[in-house]
Amino acid sequence: MASVLIGAMLRFFIPGGVLWLGAVLSVQHGWNNNLPPSVLNLAPSIVACGGILLGWRFNRSKLIFALLALFTVERLMTLPLGAGHTIIVKTAGVLLPLNFAYYALMSERGFVTWRGLFRLIIFGLQPFIIIAMLLWRPDSLKLILNAQLFKIPFSIPLPLTDPMLCAFSISFLLILLAYVQRRSPMENAFLWAGATVFMALATTQSPVAVSLFLTTGGLVLIIGVIETAHTMAFRDELTGLPGRRALEEALLKLGGRYSVAMVDIDFFKKFNDTYGHDVGDQVLRMVAGKMGQVGGGGKAFRYGGEEFTVLFNGKEPEEAVPHLERLRKTIESSGFALRDNKRPRKGQKKRGKSSAGRKVSVTVSMGVAGRPTARKAKPQEAIKAADKALYKAKNDGRNRVVAQ
Ligand code: GH3
Ligand code: MG
Ligand code: MG
Repeated sequence: MASVLIGAMLRFFIPGGVLWLGAVLSVQHGWNNNLPPSVLNLAPSIVACGGILLGWRFNRSKLIFALLALFTVERLMTLPLGAGHTIIVKTAGVLLPLNFAYYALMSERGFVTWRGLFRLIIFGLQPFIIIAMLLWRPDSLKLILNAQLFKIPFSIPLPLTDPMLCAFSISFLLILLAYVQRRSPMENAFLWAGATVFMALATTQSPVAVSLFLTTGGLVLIIGVIETAHTMAFRDELTGLPGRRALEEALLKLGGRYSVAMVDIDFFKKFNDTYGHDVGDQVLRMVAGKMGQVGGGGKAFRYGGEEFTVLFNGKEPEEAVPHLERLRKTIESSGFALRDNKRPRKGQKKRGKSSAGRKVSVTVSMGVAGRPTARKAKPQEAIKAADKALYKAKNDGRNRVVAQ
């Protein structure tokens, strides 16, 4: 349990939190003062251009919009605008967090699409509305930006207005909620990029520090997109377990003693045929959830279809078998509770059996093999041997573990 919590904390803080902390320490201790001015001037443009090109290449409009917003504010805040600076901070402090919340939560529909164009128009309209208000309704704008929304009995030692505080809180809570639900690297990146925006707008007056914070925010977002691509390549989307590519990599790292188990759900085709493909998918998720909790240091992967692989590094098959037996029994005793969430509309025929509330049994068969004895044999040979043992488990009556 503790290791799960530590893993979740590390995933939350790395890399966004580390970069954020780096920027905070750098500004606090003046480390950025030692950097040559050319680096400080160039860094925002490099991050902005590189990130937008990456967003274009990966078709990630979230990244493109967020970087456009971030670096528009970065440019404006580093201009010597005198009194205009305060208005920019107060406006950006409301619009930027709200834009971030929208970009973090919106569905990814590409940049060069009608939806993308519509979003670009909404984005581009914002400065025009502010400029128009500044020209024709300056008093209303001031009233909005300086509105007293809260009656806090103490004063905050930050140059924060109530609308800024409100916008940052709403944005943070919305993105946090989405992150807790989905745990996706992109929402995590938006949280930490939002935190750098907060530091830039609410805690500092120095243009160099503002630039450093916002550039760090851009970098965090870029890393978020790269992490998303990595997750898509290495994680199986349906079950959340590491996928085949991750297994191939893990096999390359094996050395010394190890065991490989191939796991296959029994009569899975019948599940699909009887209750429909969606219920089949839910059963796969349930089994994958149990597989992920296998003990003895075993690591579970989705091999493909309704087959899974468990690797035990440093364990002989006879040491792995008790853990696999426990896993098999857990799956058998859990069963799968059918939900009737697909009620047919009036006049429509129902697909699959009426099944709500019923528990159906789910079992798995497993074949285990250890490191091949031949000197130059590859771990793939062990997979083949485990597959053979699995075949035997099926022939012997299923719902059992057979070691080769
Ligand atoms: P056995 O006990 O011998 O393993 O029988 P089985 O029915 O489980 O084996 P078979 O290989 O004939 O069937 C596997 C089925 O798994 C066929 C395919 O439709 C289904 N399947 C594969 N991938 C998925 C998936 O992602 N979702 C769903 N719902 N079904 C899948
Ligand atoms: Mg199969
Ligand atoms: Mg099967």
